[in-house]
Amino acid sequence: MARVREKKTMLVVLAHPDDESFGMGGTIAYYAAKGVAVHLLCATRGEAGTVESQFLKKHKTIAKLREAELSCAAKALGLASVIYLGYRDSGMAGSADNRNPASLFRAPVDKVAEKIVRHIRRLRPQVVVTFDPVGGYHHPDHIAIHKATVRAFSSAKAFNHGSQLYHTALNRRRLRWIVFMMRLSGKDPTQVGRNKDIDLTALTRDKDTPAHVTINYRSVRARKEQADACHASQLEGRFTRVTLMDIYWRIFGRSDTFTRMVPATTNGYHSTDLFAA
Ligand SMILES: [Zn+2]
Repeated sequence: MARVREKKTMLVVLAHPDDESFGMGGTIAYYAAKGVAVHLLCATRGEAGTVESQFLKKHKTIAKLREAELSCAAKALGLASVIYLGYRDSGMAGSADNRNPASLFRAPVDKVAEKIVRHIRRLRPQVVVTFDPVGGYHHPDHIAIHKATVRAFSSAKAFNHGSQLYHTALNRRRLRWIVFMMRLSGKDPTQVGRNKDIDLTALTRDKDTPAHVTINYRSVRARKEQADACHASQLEGRFTRVTLMDIYWRIFGRSDTFTRMVPATTNGYHSTDLFAA
C-alpha cells in the first residue's frame, strides 16, 4: 500500500500579536503560499502594548484591538490557525506588568511547555520555530516563550520524531547598518520603539547565532507588507519604517534567517528550506 505523504506543517510559537508579522512574516507567507499549513501559537494578546486612543474607538480593550490586528495579519499571511495560550503580556523588563501573576513572565516554564506540547501532539509539525535565546531584543516574553518551546519540543519527542526546531537568527550586520543610518539621520538608536525602551546599540553587541537557513521571501513580500500594515496600532514609532526600511530592503533584499537547534548541524550547514533534512 502506498504511503500517504503527510501534509507539511509548521508550528510558529511566539509571544505577542505582531511578532509573527514584523519578525518572520515573510517566511510564514512564503510557506503558506507553497501549501504548508502554518499554525501560530501566540502566548499573549499584547495587553501591555501602548496604543493611541484613536485605535481604541472600535475596541473595548487593547487585547481586543490587538487580537483583531492579528486576525487581519493571519489572513494576509495565510496562517492556517492562530491559537492563544492565554497569558498576559509581561511588558518590557522591569515594568509593573512583569509582576502581574497572569503574565507569561510569571508562569512556570513547565506549565507553558505543557500547553505547547498539547499542540505539537495535535498538529505533528515537521518544523517548529520560536524566538532566539535573547528574545530578539531582550523582551521578557520572547525569552520566556523561547525557553518553553525548547522544553516542549524535547518533552514531545515521541510525537515529533524527525522534526526540526529552529529559532530566528537576528542579522547583526544589518542591525549595525540600521544603527549607523539612524545616527546619520539624527535619530537616537538607544531609544527605539513605541515606548522608547529598545536600545539597538546594545543588541549589536549580542552574540550572533549561525544563519543555518535563509528564506528569501521576495515572491510574497506584498503579503508581508499587508500583514505589517494590519498592526497599525504598533507601527508608529518603529524605526521609521517607511524611509529607513525601504533603503534597507533595497540593499539587503528580503530574507529571514534561522538557526537550527534540533537536529544539531555540522559546521557550515546552510539551506534555503526549513524542511530540508
Ligand atoms: Zn513581541
